[in-house]
Order: sequence, then structure tokens, then C-alpha cells
Amino acid sequence: MIIDGKKLANKIATGLKKEVAKEKEKGNSFGLGVILVKGNPASEIYVSKKRERAEDIGIGFYLTEFENPAKEILVGKILEWNKDSKINGTIVQLPLSEQLNPYEIINYIDPKKDVDGLTDENQKSLENDESDLYPATPLGILEILKEYDVDVKNKKVVIMGRSKLVGKPISLLLKNKGASVEVCHSQTGNTAEVCRDADILISAVGKPNLVTADMVKDGAVVIDVGTTRTDGVLKGDVDFENVKNKASLITPVPGGVGPLTVACLMKNVIKAKKMQNSD
Ligand code: NAP
Repeated sequence: MIIDGKKLANKIATGLKKEVAKEKEKGNSFGLGVILVKGNPASEIYVSKKRERAEDIGIGFYLTEFENPAKEILVGKILEWNKDSKINGTIVQLPLSEQLNPYEIINYIDPKKDVDGLTDENQKSLENDESDLYPATPLGILEILKEYDVDVKNKKVVIMGRSKLVGKPISLLLKNKGASVEVCHSQTGNTAEVCRDADILISAVGKPNLVTADMVKDGAVVIDVGTTRTDGVLKGDVDFENVKNKASLITPVPGGVGPLTVACLMKNVIKAKKMQNSD
């Protein structure tokens, strides 16, 4: 079965919209601040999708764009938003240009406004299973597994990729839910063999057709996080046409994990606001 990420994201957004409307009646408003370094067409598309969803739900969307900024300029904006009560969540759209270290910059975000869950403080809490703000993509994957009744307990999960944004947090979240998790990365030698054993295979690499049908067990659940834009076409990591015949459940690209990432980011903004209110 092909997972309908858009439909599930719309369902989540409908709930968030109601919640935001209720909160607004009580005088509470919500704001997401986005820092975008211009020049990456894919980033501009992702930011426009975030704007669309935020506005649909009723969350204020504040975009600041920079062209070729020095680190200090980005940090200055982050520090300004840390003190600004109309901004409840701040994100820096990745990737940044090569000369900027994204995680050094992101670390200036107040952890209570770190709705991408990428500051050292939130990553550390994640390891201890006590984070309030998890990165949105792993949260989106959990939403998919819940919606499609996939119980991860005692299941063998293989994750391709170990980034702070996706691979690492989803591996920790699923381990904490009782899955037996193996992580592959660029140095792993026998990925095909490891993947063939997976009940649930999650690929978060960014290499089209990395996951081929011979790497997938019959009946496996396949979650494709990868997004690579070539000549304007968005591709996942998975050879979808051939793998879909073997998988019991599979996410398409586009229309799979992406919409859930955006919906879960909005969930985080609402959660962050509540955390800030209770301070
Ligand atoms: P990243 O930071 O570049 O991490 C990529 C990971 O893949 C690294 O851990 C790398 O290993 C690993 N890798 C590289 N080649 C591999 C191979 N042959 N086999 C197994 N692992 C390999 O990227 P990211 O931020 O995690 O994003 C991953 C992909 O997901 C990208 O395409 C990105 O655009 C996409 N993405 C999509 C969404 C969404 O909402 N759909 C959200 C976030 C990201 P090393 O650690 O050894 O280098």
C-alpha cells in the first residue's frame, strides 16, 4: 500500500488549526521565524511550503532572507528572535553555504524556541529520551507508523543515515519504543545485506535509487526520507517503482514524509509556545 502523506498531514493540520483558533480566543498567538540564506532553489521551495502550512493553521510566519551573510549576521537575528515574544519557534533553513557551520549557528537558538530540535541541549535530551522538541521529520515518521498501525516493538529497523536532523533522532526514538535498530552510514560496508533483514527500512541519505528491490525483504515497511532535486524533479532514495511491489507499505516522494515534516514542525511551534507560557 502506498502511504498518503498529504492526507495524513492535512488531518494533523486540521486538528492544529482548531487548537490555534481556540488559543487565539484566549489571546494567545503563535509565530514561526525562518532564516533563509538565498541561492538554494530547493530551500526556497521548502520555505514556501512551511509558509503555506503555517498560514493555513493560523501561525504567524516571519521570514528573514540573507544573501551571503557572515555568521555574525545570522547569529544576530537569532539572538533578536530569542528575545521577541511573537516568535515562538526559530529555524535556520538548511543547508547553508559551505563556509558556514550550521550547527554552530543553530546553537544560538534558545532551546525552548528550537523547533527543529537541533541545538546541543535538545539533541542531548533526545539521547536521554527527555526532549520536548524533537526534530520534525522523525516525528512525522512516527505519525505515519501510528496512522498505519505499524507496531515497532521487537521489529528489526534499519536506518540509512545518521544525521542530527533525521537518522540519529529517528534511531533513538524507535529504540525507545522497543525496536531493534541498526544504523548504516557512508562507511558501512554491507548495507544491502543489513537492509534485507529489515522489517522497517528508513532511508535518509539523499541519493536517488540507493535502495533497490533486492535490498528489501518481502512485506517490509519502507520509509523514504531522501529528497534530491534533479532538473526540477524530486526523487527519493528508493527505487519506488520496483520496491513498491515488495513492500507492504511505502512512502512516495513527493507526497510521503515531506508533508508530515511540515505539519510536525507546526506542532512543535505550538508546543514551544506552551513551554514558553509556562515559564
Ligand atoms: P545529511 O546530513 O547529508 O546525512 C546523510 C546521511 O547519509 C549521513 O549520515 C551519511 O553518512 C549517510 N550516507 C551517505 N551515503 C550513504 C550510503 N551509501 N549508505 C548509507 N548511508 C549513507 O542529510 P540529512 O539532513 O539527514 O537528509 C537526508 C536526506 O533526507 C536528504 O535528501 C534531505 O534532503 C532529505 N530530507 C528530507 C526531509 C523531508 O521532510 N522529506 C527532511 C529532512 C531531510 P555519514 O554520516 O557517514 O556521512
